[in-house]
Amino acid sequence: MYMEKLRLDDKLAVVTGGSRGIGLAIAEALGEAGARLVLLDRDAASLEEAKKSLQAKGLSAAIHIVDVTVSAAVQQAADAIAAEHGAADILVANAGIGRPPVAAEDIEDADWLAVNDVNLNGVFWCNRAFGRHMLAKGGGAIVNIGSMSGLIVNRPQGQSHYNASKAAVHHLTHSLAAEWGARGVRVNAVAPTYIETPLIAHAEASGLAAEWRRDTPMGRFGQAHEVASVVHFLVSDAASLMTGAVVPVDGGFTCW
Ligand code: NDP
Repeated sequence: MYMEKLRLDDKLAVVTGGSRGIGLAIAEALGEAGARLVLLDRDAASLEEAKKSLQAKGLSAAIHIVDVTVSAAVQQAADAIAAEHGAADILVANAGIGRPPVAAEDIEDADWLAVNDVNLNGVFWCNRAFGRHMLAKGGGAIVNIGSMSGLIVNRPQGQSHYNASKAAVHHLTHSLAAEWGARGVRVNAVAPTYIETPLIAHAEASGLAAEWRRDTPMGRFGQAHEVASVVHFLVSDAASLMTGAVVPVDGGFTCW
């Protein structure tokens, strides 16, 4: 009974920012559990690459080119996917961006707006568009990819735009969970620590990585698959009583 709850057979799972990094690992995890996959990203070539890499693992995925910051395009994608494959059962709002470290007083307007546009607005447009279809059919599971940066303030680097955007994602998750809980749509978030993807590749050379490891009880960064397996749990029936949770996946970082 318990292992069966982790199966996602025939569920339709949409993963934004699904062409690499954490999003691609999530797609693989959900696909391996039986879900039908749709990857959303803004670059056609990387989507094709991702599709091929999943195919090499015996998984198939449909792809959809969407910039998550364009709300009308996100709604169009949700409608087109519903028309072609049926309404999504699962949404993982993963697309997100960072910016190089910068002191708060030096943040350019354009960087503040870009980070919040993808990380917060994009997450909301996706939750709203796919959530509408889930509400209409009376069920669904959403996981938003937040960050431990929405729970603590990273040090020593300045990244207040990113931190604020992720804290907003967490509270958006609470808000949607509260509104949609009685209508069958669960909304949770994960808050990962530093995960070894291109997003943090700059940190090894700059020496920041060593400091970050010292700040982590487990003494290491995470791997994308370690986030993916928690997302898999949260979207599955094994987490049927969970909504509005922000789950740290952080090697203990937020303990200190
Ligand atoms: P990556 O940069 O490796 O992947 C992000 C993906 O999202 C890319 O494919 C990117 O496409 C896509 N994307 C970015 N902007 C948009 C957009 N406007 N519309 C559609 N797709 C877009 O990042 P990670 O895998 O590392 O991060 C995934 C999520 O996890 C993010 O939300 C991030 O904030 C969060 N996270 C990451 C951590 C880490 O240490 N890596 C730690 C905690 C949270 P493109 O190539 O075109 O930019």
